[in-house]
Amino acid sequence: FIHFHGVSKDYGPIRVIEQLNLEVSKGEFLSLLGPSGSGKTTILMMLAGFEAPTAGTIWLDGQRIHELPPHQRGMGVVFQNYALFPHMTVAENVAFPLQMRGLPRAEIADRVAKALDRVQLAHLGSRKPDQLSGGQQQRVALTRALVFEPKVVLMDEPLGALDKQLREQMQLEIRALHRRLGLSIVFVTHDQSEALTMSDRVAIFDKGRIAQIGTASEVYDRPASQFVSQFIGETN
Ligand code: ATP
Repeated sequence: FIHFHGVSKDYGPIRVIEQLNLEVSKGEFLSLLGPSGSGKTTILMMLAGFEAPTAGTIWLDGQRIHELPPHQRGMGVVFQNYALFPHMTVAENVAFPLQMRGLPRAEIADRVAKALDRVQLAHLGSRKPDQLSGGQQQRVALTRALVFEPKVVLMDEPLGALDKQLREQMQLEIRALHRRLGLSIVFVTHDQSEALTMSDRVAIFDKGRIAQIGTASEVYDRPASQFVSQFIGETN
C-alpha cells in the first residue's frame, strides 16, 4: 500500500536515510522507533511531501507520490512543527481540511462539532490556539488531521505534551479510530512501550537504516542484534 523503494535522503553532504525499502500494508499501524537523529522524522517528511527523497521512489496505492505536492497526497499529519493556524479559532482550524475539500457548510459544521465533542473540546471551539494548553493544542491538531477521514495518518510524537491520563485516553482514541476507519498509521514516538502496545509492527532505526522490523513480540522476544536489544531494553 505504502512502499519505499530504494529511498535515500541527503541533507547537504550528509546521508540521513540509506537505501530504505519499507512496506506498510493497508490498515496497518506501524511505529518508527530509534535514537534521536536516526531518521524517523525525515521518513514522515518525505511521505507527507515536505521533503523530497534524494534517490528512490515512494508509492501509495499504486501511485508514485514522491512528486506530488502535500495536499494531493490525502494524508492527515500531526507533526510537532506543523502548528495550528494561530489566527483561526479551534473550530476554524478543524474545519479547514473539510473546506479545502469543498464540503457543504452545514456538513462541515456538523462534523466539526462532533469531532470536537469526541475529544472533549467542544467548549473551546471559539478560542484561538494561544489560549489553549499544549495538550489541548495537540488534541486539536489530532482532530484536524482526522476530521476528513484520510486513508493514511502520519504522526510525529502526537501525544508528547500530554499528561499520563490524557495520553492513555488519546492512545485509546487513536486505536479506536484506526480500527473503525481502517486507517494506515505511521507513528513516530520516543516511548517504546507506547509503540509496542499500539502498533501492528514496529521498525527500529539505526543511523538511517532499519535495524529490525516486526511485531512487538518478535522485536521484544527475538531482537535481531545487540543494538535492538539494548535499545528496547534501555528506556521504559
Ligand atoms: P528525533 O528522534 O530527535 O526527532 P529523528 O530520528 O526523527 O530524531 P531526523 O529528524 O529524521 O531524526 O533527523 C535525521 C538526521 O538528519 C539528523 O542527523 C538531523 O540532524 C538531520 N536533519 C534533519 N533535518 C535536517 C535539515 N532540514 N537540514 C539538515 N539536516 C537535517
